[in-house]
Parts: sequence; C-alpha cells; structure tokens
Amino acid sequence: MQVAQLPAPGHTVLGGSFQHVSGGKGANQAVAARRAGGNVVLHAALGRDTYGDELLGHYETDGIDCSNIFRDEHHPTGTAVILVDGIGENLIAVASGANLSVKPPTSAKNVGVFLLQGEIPAETIFRTINLALDAHIPVILNNAPVVEIPANLRAAVDVLIVNEHEAEAMTGIDVRNRESAERAISCLRGHGYPCVLVTLGPGGVLCSYNNEILFQPAFLVNPVDTTAAGDTFCGAFAARYICGDPLDAAITFASAAAACSTLKVGAQPSIPDNAQTNEFLASKPGFRI
Ligand code: ADP
Repeated sequence: MQVAQLPAPGHTVLGGSFQHVSGGKGANQAVAARRAGGNVVLHAALGRDTYGDELLGHYETDGIDCSNIFRDEHHPTGTAVILVDGIGENLIAVASGANLSVKPPTSAKNVGVFLLQGEIPAETIFRTINLALDAHIPVILNNAPVVEIPANLRAAVDVLIVNEHEAEAMTGIDVRNRESAERAISCLRGHGYPCVLVTLGPGGVLCSYNNEILFQPAFLVNPVDTTAAGDTFCGAFAARYICGDPLDAAITFASAAAACSTLKVGAQPSIPDNAQTNEFLASKPGFRI
C-alpha cells in the first residue's frame, strides 16, 4: 500500500493506494532463473487458499516445474504487508504461514544446482546443504533474511550472495561502499565461505573468489522500481552458473537482468527473459554476447 506518510502506532492514515503482487524470494528467484533459460523445479509450500492457487498458476505459466510444491492444509500462503511512503521508506510485516512448512528435498536426482534463500526454516536449509554435499551438487545461498549457517556447512556453499545489509548482519561491518564491502567479504571468507558476492544496489557487485576480487559496476538505468532486483540477480546468476559460464560472465549477465528488472513496476512482472536481457546487454557499448 502506498501512503503519503507511514502511520505511527495507534494511528490510521487514509488515502493510500493498494496493489496485490506476487512475491517471495524463492518464487521471484525461480521465475528469474526460468526466464534466464534455466529448467527450474520450485521446492516450496503454499497454503490451500486462493492466493496459493493464483501463485501456482503464475509459476506454471512461466514453465516452472511445480511438482515439488507442497499445499499446506493448515497454514495460509506466506504473505507480506508492505507500506511505502512518499519518500520510499517502508514498513513490512511478514506472515510466513506455509513457508515454515517447507521440508528439505528427499533426493538430489537431476539437480544441477540448489539455489536457497533464508525465508524457509533454517533446518531445511541445513539439511539441503548436507544433501547437496553428499551428492556433490553445488549450492548457491542467498542468505536473506540472514540465517546463521553452522561452520561445518559453509565450505559447501559454493557461492554466497548477500546485499549490504545482510553482509553487515553477518559480519558486524557497516557496508556502505566498495571498501567496506571488501572488508566484509574478507571477513566472510574467513568464516569459511569459498566465494562471496556482495550486491550494492546501484553500486554494483563485488565478488571474491580464490585470491581475486571482481567488481561489476551496475548498469546505468533510470530505475522505476527496484523491488525484485536482488532476486532477479540471484535467479539469473544461478541460470548462467549452471551453464558453466565463468563467474565474471555470470555476474555481468545477472547484473544486466537485475538492471532490466528495475525498469518496470512490480516484482515478478518486471523480471526479464533471456531475450530482453540480451537485448539490453547488446545495447551497452563494450558488451558482446
Ligand atoms: P537487494 O534487492 O537484495 O537489496 P541490490 O539492491 O543490491 O539487491 O541489487 C542487486 C543488483 O541489482 C545490484 O548488484 C545491481 O547489479 C542491480 N541493481 C540494483 N539496483 C540498481 C539500480 N538502481 N541500477 C542498476 N542496477 C541495479
């Protein structure tokens, strides 16, 4: 809901405008990975309610394999209520509902990469990483919201992706720019993560792998709505990573997809497909695909 001013406790504000949009990190990232050309199986839980039916319909339209989506009879579909004021400040409350019923997959058969987010139970994340470890399958973890990953599982996270707030929550370092992001990255490497990407919104992406630091500046755009930029980045990155793209190429593609997603309002409707991202990249001097 867009409001002129956020209400203080006990207050009511009138005159807002309401929009109902599909979201959730896992779902947005699944859509982004699918539109970037990946074959995606979404492992999730939805309530047995009209929101759940509607979301399932969207995923199926996008060509996402929904056979592993659990319909929870006892909890409603996860929902967030978001208030945004005239200067972009927001208030967000999340009712996780069925998201807390997501169980780990029982098999890693035919999985090329696991892409995980923090909006499901921590235990499910840990058990999925263990499953991936046993099956020698790479894991990309977008640790948002931040979950404390046990030290013995961190080396099994092939790529950790966090934004500046999550990097700060994981390290205690106030991440504001490239220099502080580098310090946070080296701290996270010290915690045992082999490859760390910190996304800095319009400040681009910083990545550390082996002894190299890669920096991808953000593409210059006039953003209309940056809601799903981070999720678009993660999904598109995973789709390219699984194709065997070198890290820098996957990061460039994901940054272009994320920049494209800022050009339209909404979360899932704004996520570009491969053709749109490639067209965007081709329009940027110096980028060849
Ligand atoms: P999150 O949504 O998780 O906070 P970020 O805001 O860091 O993620 O955005 C992820 C990526 O999306 C950035 O690293 C950048 O590549 C791209 N991006 C985000 N905002 C912009 C922007 N205003 N202009 C261009 N690219 C952007």
